[in-house]
Amino acid sequence: MIIQSLSVCVPSLRCINDCKFCCSKMHTADYTDRFTELGKYSAYRDDMGKRLEYARDNGCNTCMLTGNNEPQQNKEYLRVFSEVNSSISSPFRNIEMQTSGAFIDEDMLDFLKYSVGLTTIAISVACLDDDAKNRDTIQTKDSNLNLKWLCKAAKDRNLNLRICLNMNDDILLHHDFTPETIIKLCKELDADQITFRALWSPDATTEQGKWIEDHVTSKTYDFIDSLKADIKDKGKYLDTLEYGADRYDYYEFSVVIDEDSMSQEDKKSAVKYLILRPNGHLYSKWDSKASLIF
Ligand code: SF4
Repeated sequence: MIIQSLSVCVPSLRCINDCKFCCSKMHTADYTDRFTELGKYSAYRDDMGKRLEYARDNGCNTCMLTGNNEPQQNKEYLRVFSEVNSSISSPFRNIEMQTSGAFIDEDMLDFLKYSVGLTTIAISVACLDDDAKNRDTIQTKDSNLNLKWLCKAAKDRNLNLRICLNMNDDILLHHDFTPETIIKLCKELDADQITFRALWSPDATTEQGKWIEDHVTSKTYDFIDSLKADIKDKGKYLDTLEYGADRYDYYEFSVVIDEDSMSQEDKKSAVKYLILRPNGHLYSKWDSKASLIF
């Protein structure tokens, strides 16, 4: 089994955002929050430790803090995760967090860096050059969310900065961006990596699925095609990731186009992700409880 990363789903009651493209809201399968039920006491900690060790035993080096919410909403869980990770025989050194950045301030960044051991902050962005549009699309309660400030504060702490662009017609491309424009904006933010995320809907009957259907049209797909061609033309091939995607040096950014962010396609026998759910159990697919490992 090849494991690209372990995603740790941080439990929380309700997300502080309401992204118009939120894939978590398109799924009904939910997982009991055993962390809150059992608290930070032994049963949950033991279970979490075993799952982290299992991922490490199988060669997984990267741990991604994520969830059906913003991980920073549950500091207590992050604290316990950090303690458990430090206690296993071979702790994760590469710890990433996926976030829009909502309500992340200086203190929270210090906590993430020095208490949790965060190495990479992956900022999910719906609009690169207009904070109001970004906030409107992710429907956040944080009326001060400011991408430039957040990126600078992360770089001030020497974190790796990844910009995750949620590709759609009227937000990402509202200025008729070209690949060069996007690279320039990301360089201005001092980003180290970019992920171009092709938004995908498993269910067009949901509100979020309908939004994606309306906002991810041929305009976005044409852009992605031209981007791929440009990367192959101007980029330098670096390597092929374990699950088959090619990685390029593109204007000094490490670039992978992730068209399979939910691990929907079976790529040979490869398993892309492990997912630790709030119930303390490990799964291999985002959309199937039947993918339980243990
Ligand atoms: S931050 Fe994530 S979980 Fe929260 S609404 Fe947005 S996409 Fe969904």
